[in-house]
Amino acid sequence: MSDEIKNVLNKYPDFEANIGMEIHVQLKTKSKIFCSCPNQFGQKPNENICPICSGYPGVLPLLNKRVVDFAIMAGIATNCEITPVSRFSRKHYMYPDLPKNFQITQNEPPICKNGHIIIESENEKEKRIRLIRIHIEEDAGKNIHSTSEDKSYIDLNRAGTPLLEIVSHPDISNSYEAKLYLTRLKSIVEYLGISDANMEKGSFRGDVNISVKRKDEEKLGTKVELKNINSFKFIAQAIEYEIERQIKIIKEGGKINQETRSWDTKEHKSFIMRSKEEAADYRYLREPDLPLIIVDKKWIEKIKNEIPELPNKKIKRFKDEYNLSNYEAEILTGNIKLANYFEEVVKNCKLPKKASNWILRNLLGYLKENKIDLDQLKISAKNFADLILVIENKIINTKVAQEIFLIMAQTGKNPKEIIKEQGLEQLNDEEKLEKVVLEIINNNPEQVEKYLEGKNKLFGFFVGLAMKQTKGKANPKIINELLKKHLTK
Ligand SMILES: [Zn+2]
Repeated sequence: MSDEIKNVLNKYPDFEANIGMEIHVQLKTKSKIFCSCPNQFGQKPNENICPICSGYPGVLPLLNKRVVDFAIMAGIATNCEITPVSRFSRKHYMYPDLPKNFQITQNEPPICKNGHIIIESENEKEKRIRLIRIHIEEDAGKNIHSTSEDKSYIDLNRAGTPLLEIVSHPDISNSYEAKLYLTRLKSIVEYLGISDANMEKGSFRGDVNISVKRKDEEKLGTKVELKNINSFKFIAQAIEYEIERQIKIIKEGGKINQETRSWDTKEHKSFIMRSKEEAADYRYLREPDLPLIIVDKKWIEKIKNEIPELPNKKIKRFKDEYNLSNYEAEILTGNIKLANYFEEVVKNCKLPKKASNWILRNLLGYLKENKIDLDQLKISAKNFADLILVIENKIINTKVAQEIFLIMAQTGKNPKEIIKEQGLEQLNDEEKLEKVVLEIINNNPEQVEKYLEGKNKLFGFFVGLAMKQTKGKANPKIINELLKKHLTK
């Protein structure tokens, strides 16, 4: 994984950082957690609401069982123990987007606990990031602050969306590991199909706890919470900044205050949101309107059967089965859709290494450049495989293949069709190519002489002319051989 952000701890060898994460994952169930309203966004404000999710008094919540399925799935996939009997609690606080003044969540016990996720740390060793718990809760609505008028609005469409909160121990040591952890966790929930895990849209969002201490001290330092950071890049930047800020305070003999901070993406600084003194007491209370969640072995077995091959296993299989490097396997499996696309291409062309090269070099570059998802790509896996095969069978050369690739991306056509339409077949006819080469030699006596006197660099000049003459279609290998044959004294 490339990483442009430096590890600030290299500057302070006596110190270490302890970082924990609290990730909120929005679940993509059909309906909300406690009512039958559709669990969808992008609708008109307050369109998908009812008395239950908008918090009217006296209504009764009814638990969506699929939410529990998804929580068990996430628990199994992250090596958690599934709690046989867990319950819901009310967490009290007042905020305009939470009309009933409490959030239904899980306090003790949560549905899953004591799990772990394995990441590969910087020295390529496996590292275990332990999970404290995963619990189920409902999301709140949204406050919309108008920029043109002096008004705020409330949209409750999001209220009652099911969430999982995944809480880790402070086992993460730097921003590099934090990014790996987030990437792995994100791909796990994507693989499970339980969330879109889109950070920009807020369906995968996280808070980070950071403390630092001198290496020889046993007790963890005072932790500071970073909230509301919505990209991996900003999280990494904020972690690095915060580690250094805390170390500087300690080195100057100061004390770290327990507080909540946010990240200013323009100024590249963290700033204080609230201090511990203002921290709320949520007065957790057992939710009286919902029954206990009882999960038996049979339920767990049923969910186990629903779990697909997960990232760690897929990476290993890609390396073994397709002979890919760790780097290639990590990227191709980073996204389940990409992993499936790759396998579909390989199924059709039986050339895994070439398919991997083309996907990593051309396809991903194209998606990034055009800011589109794989879903929006017009090239089917079958057509992509055909492109690799026409190169392999020397029907076109790689330079022409790049052009065809772009036409495929724009039109969705099969490469063979494009080759036919545009007459792009590679010229392999030695007789014809020999004519081209001889003509070039005859027309450029000066350069030929210089070449023969030892100016070897001119060889490229002749190759260039031959390719130009054939509109890039000549088989470069044959051109090279023919030039070598005829450029002699
Ligand atoms: Zn509702």
